[in-house]
Amino acid sequence: MIRNLATLSALLLFPLAAAAAPCPGNPQALGTERVLEVSAATTPRVGRKHFPATLPLGPKEIVLTFDDGPWPETTPAVLDALAKECVRASFFMLGMHAEKHPELARRILADGHTVAHHTYSHKILNRISIAAAEEEINQGFAEDDYAVYGQRRTAPATPFFRFPGFASSPALLDRLAQRGIVVFGADFWASDWDPMSPSQQFNLVMSRVEQFNRGILLFHDTKAQTAAMLPDFLRELKRRGYKIVHVVPAGARGLLR
Ligand SMILES: [Zn+2]
Repeated sequence: MIRNLATLSALLLFPLAAAAAPCPGNPQALGTERVLEVSAATTPRVGRKHFPATLPLGPKEIVLTFDDGPWPETTPAVLDALAKECVRASFFMLGMHAEKHPELARRILADGHTVAHHTYSHKILNRISIAAAEEEINQGFAEDDYAVYGQRRTAPATPFFRFPGFASSPALLDRLAQRGIVVFGADFWASDWDPMSPSQQFNLVMSRVEQFNRGILLFHDTKAQTAAMLPDFLRELKRRGYKIVHVVPAGARGLLR
């Protein structure tokens, strides 16, 4: 009888354990559905806009990514919106911004997000020499990690990188793959580099979510229109049944709080 009860309670508990953790203060939160470990060994390049492969996502699963920060005028509002919904994202930071705003860079990590990399100063890397491009990439890794962890490393703590303007080259892609660094493109994006009102931004990105259904979505946490519409956007994702997947480096899942 005791064994049967134990089996029954295990069956009842399993769906709870598999669901997203509760969100303090917000029982209706969107939440983070699951954590996905990503490794260059299995997926060196992800994002169907530029590469043949993407992450293994199910229907209505979205990976949120934010480029070009940390930026004091807009990143705090983005982080507040994500925190309120217990949503975890990935921030592809610029080394020069992390260098200037290390407290904000550290908050991104402290809030449970993934600290990823986007060069030092946003140079378009396929227009400069390979040596100069590698220097720009490595300086970005070094300054991001110095701001966040207090250590400059050429092998970054999180080996995730996105090319500015998606401007990769075969030689640079090969070198990053040799170093075990995952290159993130995107499956779709918000086009938030184009000026528009927050409600126009909301409508545009929601239409793309519906069009693509799943994938890696690119925003910029440096854009006021994105920061302004993010709370409504996250609520709408919840209402329409979308789920958030948090990407982390291979082996990191067990270290998450
Ligand atoms: Zn960028």
